[in-house]
Amino acid sequence: MDLIIGSHVSYKNNMGLLGSVKEAISYGANTFMFYTGAPQNTMRGEINDKLTSEALELMKENNMDISKVIVHAPYIVNLANMNNFDFSVSFLRKEVERCNVLGMKYLVLHPGSAVNCSREEAINNISNGLNLILDNDYDVTILLETMAGKGNEIGRSFEELKSIIDKVKFKDKIGVCIDTCHLNDAGYDIGNFDDILDLFDKVIGIDKIGCIHVNDSKNDMGSHKDRHENIGFGNLGFDALINIIYNSRLEGIPKILETPYVTKDDNSKEREYPPYKYEIEMIKNKVFDNDLITKIREDN
Ligand code: FE
Ligand code: FE
Ligand code: ZN
Repeated sequence: MDLIIGSHVSYKNNMGLLGSVKEAISYGANTFMFYTGAPQNTMRGEINDKLTSEALELMKENNMDISKVIVHAPYIVNLANMNNFDFSVSFLRKEVERCNVLGMKYLVLHPGSAVNCSREEAINNISNGLNLILDNDYDVTILLETMAGKGNEIGRSFEELKSIIDKVKFKDKIGVCIDTCHLNDAGYDIGNFDDILDLFDKVIGIDKIGCIHVNDSKNDMGSHKDRHENIGFGNLGFDALINIIYNSRLEGIPKILETPYVTKDDNSKEREYPPYKYEIEMIKNKVFDNDLITKIREDN
């Protein structure tokens, strides 16, 4: 099976998309995900056309299919919050436009969080927002991410995502991004992934899956915590994640790692070394390396 795998990579304004592509290639990836600026804010620079066309050229040379590349919207945008609704809508409209300029087809979005309103109202706000963002001007699909259910996060169940999608007018412009850590933390048993896919298919439809975030989890099933762990080093375990990555029903869907950077040593808190090159190699080999963290530290 053709594995389409990559990780979250950085996007710096002075290097543009070219920097992101180079970073992905250095990990042995054939796709990647990036934020068009800092994940935690909504400041965005102008897109440099020269760097973009150089990036697209480099992708071609490396057999990277642009339709498998993912953009992630900043996680502070919250369509459920009416106090900030107009800003969120206009920001996301511009973000869709930026995706279009860069040639990207998929934008992952955290659905939002209920602020001073019921979950039902939050779901309404989100679909109303999406209907103000999506139209036929751009060939960009928004993928709603499955969430851990931290605080008042919307999207902790397939049913919640389904109720948002039901109210979206442009059905072919809306899909889902499955995050394995989030599913576990939301209470889904990742160990039986075919059952999960059956359920997803019944509730939403398997054809709506546009991306899989492959992360291990630091916490137990149903913990509603959302803390990612390196592949094979958390509660999901290597075999369960391999079964998801190589599940034939998910062939062709990009698998994106968002696992944490590795610290210098066990006592250090600062995350310094990207694990992706090592994790991708381990996934390609399908053999767990218990010494992976040590190896990453030694190599850096
Ligand atoms: Fe996310
Ligand atoms: Fe994620
Ligand atoms: Zn997460």
